[in-house]
Amino acid sequence: MAAGLEFESVSRGFRSMFFMLSPNESSYEKVEDVPQYVQQAFPFFVGLMLLELVVGVVKTGGPVVTISDGITSISAGMISRLPLLLMRGCELTAYMYVWDHFRLLELPWDSAWTWWLTFLGVDLGYYWVHRSAHEVAVLWAAHQVHHSSEYYNLSTALRQSATQQLASWIFYLPLALAVPPSVFAVHIQLNLLYQFWIHTELVRDLGPLEWVFNTPKHHRVHHGRNEYCLDKNYGGVLIIWDRLFGTFAPETDKVIYGLVVPINTFENLSIQVGLFLTFLNGPSWKPGKTRLGDHDDNPKVTGKEVPHDPSWTLPLQVYVVVHFLLVLKTYHEPKSVVTPRLFKLLNKIACLVCFLFFVCVCLLLPVLHLSDHYLHEACSVVVPTHTHTHTHTHTPVVSPSLSENETPAGGPAVNTNALIVESTISQPK
Ligand SMILES: [Zn+2]
Ligand SMILES: [Zn+2]
Repeated sequence: MAAGLEFESVSRGFRSMFFMLSPNESSYEKVEDVPQYVQQAFPFFVGLMLLELVVGVVKTGGPVVTISDGITSISAGMISRLPLLLMRGCELTAYMYVWDHFRLLELPWDSAWTWWLTFLGVDLGYYWVHRSAHEVAVLWAAHQVHHSSEYYNLSTALRQSATQQLASWIFYLPLALAVPPSVFAVHIQLNLLYQFWIHTELVRDLGPLEWVFNTPKHHRVHHGRNEYCLDKNYGGVLIIWDRLFGTFAPETDKVIYGLVVPINTFENLSIQVGLFLTFLNGPSWKPGKTRLGDHDDNPKVTGKEVPHDPSWTLPLQVYVVVHFLLVLKTYHEPKSVVTPRLFKLLNKIACLVCFLFFVCVCLLLPVLHLSDHYLHEACSVVVPTHTHTHTHTHTPVVSPSLSENETPAGGPAVNTNALIVESTISQPK
């Protein structure tokens, strides 16, 4: 009996990774009853990553993940969950507020129709969350964390931003006018979990499924820095949104992964906050260009790019792995440091911060619409250097293709020396 229940629980956990749960087994009346699907998925993350490692060695003759990149990605995933210590998650908190105060009707929580409608609604909401994260620079500054790896494997899926939730909640609020929070709480988690398995190079083509679903093949394109890949394939579970809104691109040439200008570091702090130097235009924008910039100005991809992979001594690698495993163990055995009352208070403060952040972005939008003044302010930031100075061009504010004193069409004369941001990135040798 116990073994049967155990098998059922493992089966549900595994199927939740692929959105293979039926409405019957994933509908709940109260938010409190909704399982922590993402939290419970940890063993499946590890299991699937190990499986990918083994199959990768068999198929390609070498590891599909490096220690430096893999640990950086998983660590970023851990950092991205830290805000949840203070709050339930912006999306759910804001959602429940709108539901409590402004709902227009109450769809039944135990209806399959409600389940499927929410499935579509959350996935459509995710499409616009994701598209905005690529087209508005302040949102891109958060989302670029996910794209900063030059590798593409399951660990890349975990490389997430700690700040992205600050703005994404707004896109799901229309659902709160009718869909119960418990149904939304299920779908927002399953939608996220589905996107784990599509980060692999080992699954090449899924035939007819490619028409409807977001698959590894489609999402590889989304992570590419080849020109044909930029700003394409934003879908979460379904790819139909991209086909509908004109942002779909099939995989053709070999995909070269990572940011247009590679970040060349494994320092998580730099990765998390590095691009907050810029604001509201698209990542490829520069003076005299339209809001989203001109992809012709980006460095050309030759197909021979080699990922950043500094050689580490064996003792250093062993140290990093042991240290990482100890942190991982601590991460999964958190001691409760806040009382329920303090938790509620922190939750409210965090929600207020999120709201103010969003209002500030809206208010600053016209002011910061990149006047020449702002441009020079943003572009001439020079951070004091220490240890190792690396001349690093961040994509949104830097024009790698501008030559000295070149005057961009329609824009002011730009001293490219001022466009170079000297970062404090200390790179392992
Ligand atoms: Zn993206
Ligand atoms: Zn991805």
